[in-house]
Amino acid sequence: ADMDVDTIWMDGEFVDWEDAQVHVLTHGLHYGTGVFEGVRCYDTERGPAIFRWEEHLDRLFDSAKPYDMEIDHDHEELTEATLELIRRQDLESCYIRPLAFYGYNSLGVSPGDCPTRTMIACWPWGAYLGEDAIENGVDVMVSSWRKHASSQIPTNAKATGPYLNSMLAGEEARGNGYVEAIVLNKEGNVAEGPGENIFLVKDGEIYTPGLAESILDGITRKTAITLAEERGYEVHDEATISRGELYTADELFFTGTAAEVTPIRSVDDNEIGNGSRGPVTEELQKAFFDLVERRTDDHDEWFTYVNEQ
Ligand code: PMP
Repeated sequence: ADMDVDTIWMDGEFVDWEDAQVHVLTHGLHYGTGVFEGVRCYDTERGPAIFRWEEHLDRLFDSAKPYDMEIDHDHEELTEATLELIRRQDLESCYIRPLAFYGYNSLGVSPGDCPTRTMIACWPWGAYLGEDAIENGVDVMVSSWRKHASSQIPTNAKATGPYLNSMLAGEEARGNGYVEAIVLNKEGNVAEGPGENIFLVKDGEIYTPGLAESILDGITRKTAITLAEERGYEVHDEATISRGELYTADELFFTGTAAEVTPIRSVDDNEIGNGSRGPVTEELQKAFFDLVERRTDDHDEWFTYVNEQ
């Protein structure tokens, strides 16, 4: 395995990597009935600091709602578990993956009396789309797959099943020599990336699709909006963006916990702007990394300092 994990928290207990197992008749394995989060913990002068942990937990519990899933552990317990995982494994920075899913009782589509299982794992994870991507941007293609509509599945819930769509779009892009995909919604407007939200810069203003465009309400998206507004930018956060507007944008960038702030330098082989990271993207990227690596005191309320809890 290419993941360095010793200990996993599972259903209230810390277990060794090799003991964190589920049965093949697990409901979530057959029907994608899981909800999850992706969170980053950054290495700062005050030690490891988890970014916007409470918001991620809120989204986890919100994601469980449409699926009637009861997570048997509250915020406090999940927080303690995560802090302990980071401490025990001596992690300075890491990615945190909480997951709740229907376990085994029966295999009807109705989860019936299936128990909800919950796990958390943490591991070191660098730049999602590569270090080079952060500076030079990524080449992307508009996927031939459409994002499922919010009338078909709650797109604001971060559930496991819907990631089949993300996988198809991402693999199609990589199979065609691109780094990542942009996925249009059912109406044909720009929705998001397979695991990222998308922003467009035109004439000094910033645009990003709103929740009604079938996107996930990304926490990095919200962060980027706040950082941009604080720097005086006009941000249109309920924009409808057509495919053609991608090609004529001055700048495009992705946001996401994994992707952080990643410039997009081309779409379908069309250079965006001058084909490299644009000035607004660079400014927001710098603001983002200064924030999460705590080179500023701004928004201290967004950080959970592992060694100070
Ligand atoms: N959209 C999708 C489909 C995602 O999977 C993610 C990653 N969670 C995002 C957007 C970005 O969300 P966040 O900034 O909260 O990681």
